Amino acid sequence: MSLAPPAESLFDLSAAHRAIRDEASRVAAEFAPRAHEIRRHLIEHSEMHPQLWRVFRENGWCAYTPGSTEDGGLLAAAVVLAAFAEQGIVLWMPVLSTAIAHAIAVVGPDSARATWLPLVAAGKIHLGMAATEPDSGHNLFAARTEIRRVEGGFVVRGLKRVTSGLDVVERVLVFGRAFEGDRANGYTTLLVDPRAPGVTVTEIPMRFREGVRQFQLELDDVAVPEDALVGREGGGLFALWPFTDVERVLTAALCVGSADYAVRSAVVRAKERVVAGGVPIGVHQAVSHPLARLTARLAATRLLVHRAAARLDAGAADTDVAADANAAKVLAADLAFDAADHAVQVFGADAWDERNGWLDHYLDARLSRSGPVSNEFALNYLAEHALGLSAHR
Ligand SMILES: Cc1cc2nc3c(=O)[nH]c(=O)nc-3n(C[C@H](O)[C@H](O)[C@H](O)COP(=O)(O)OP(=O)(O)OC[C@H]3O[C@@H](n4cnc5c(N)ncnc54)[C@H](O)[C@@H]3O)c2cc1C
Repeated sequence: MSLAPPAESLFDLSAAHRAIRDEASRVAAEFAPRAHEIRRHLIEHSEMHPQLWRVFRENGWCAYTPGSTEDGGLLAAAVVLAAFAEQGIVLWMPVLSTAIAHAIAVVGPDSARATWLPLVAAGKIHLGMAATEPDSGHNLFAARTEIRRVEGGFVVRGLKRVTSGLDVVERVLVFGRAFEGDRANGYTTLLVDPRAPGVTVTEIPMRFREGVRQFQLELDDVAVPEDALVGREGGGLFALWPFTDVERVLTAALCVGSADYAVRSAVVRAKERVVAGGVPIGVHQAVSHPLARLTARLAATRLLVHRAAARLDAGAADTDVAADANAAKVLAADLAFDAADHAVQVFGADAWDERNGWLDHYLDARLSRSGPVSNEFALNYLAEHALGLSAHR
């Protein structure tokens, strides 16, 4: 009797996930010639490209959250988003909405689950995240946004920067805390309406990184109703951890897809372009070896992304998957950047012609090293939790 488990179950997608991926790849290839139009539509009209998004909704591709395994779960979300990124269509808003939906699913309350999860799953709304602040940056433990308890709800005061997609979202998850004098109490997360009185939204010119508009969010004593609370008052970190795991896994999926797109595009170019000696540039190992190395990294990184997503789907605790999620994010962000960098090299001067899209691709790939979590902070997590090295905060 062989003790070897079927290789497919360990190292490949199930037949159901392969079917989801194949259908997403087929549809993404149809939309690929319109990648630029899809990106511009969100920026110019503050909504997802209607035809593309209708296909997402009809296929149930907005409904994948960890553990929803009868639909496909987070692994399905990862393969769908990667399939589109492989065709040059990088969709950032579903990453945020899926990650926040997961946080709501984990920490509740039931009223928030009942209100928001069906809307996200149906693709009717998007959700945004406002954690980062200008003074404390990545160190969310030092957030200064104040959430004050009042009769019937809360009052929020603070400044958040950078916040993505505020022109598109129905609600933004604001991370803040209560203060008593100088003493800070527990963290709290609230779903705030970005159009509420007291909210000032100012666009930051970032050349539409991630294909969305970027903003500063100023909250000037904004009255927020009781039912905006996600999780429990003072328990905001319990909402943040599930959010970050899913955000990291799906960011990594986008990076893998985007790296795949860069490598395949560069290979086509390397086979076609002849500048000297009557041979295509791809015969030179200076061109081909980086592409081969990137292909090897792609195979390994994709496996890790799938494993992290599959573990969350199988019910592993967010804290148990966090090391995989952080490792996947670091490897995928470096991979996306190196792939974009080599693609720019292979395309030569054509890469710098803005009409060809490589400058956006390159800058977005570069951004993935700094956000949504910087690679240093993801490595800090691994140093502290996987290696037991103390972290300096
Ligand atoms: C286009 C864009 C979109 C964004 N969207 C959102 C959003 O929707 N919601 C949101 O909340 N935030 C968002 N951000 C914020 C993003 O997550 C921040 O850029 C990130 O938190 C870094 O914060 P900071 O820019 O203040 O850098 P800092 O925190 O000042 O850090 C600067 C650098 O120092 C490094 N560093 C700092 N401390 C340490 C340490 N202890 N160990 C090692 N390295 C360290 C960091 O890794 C980083 O490389 C967005 C940013 C950008 C650019």
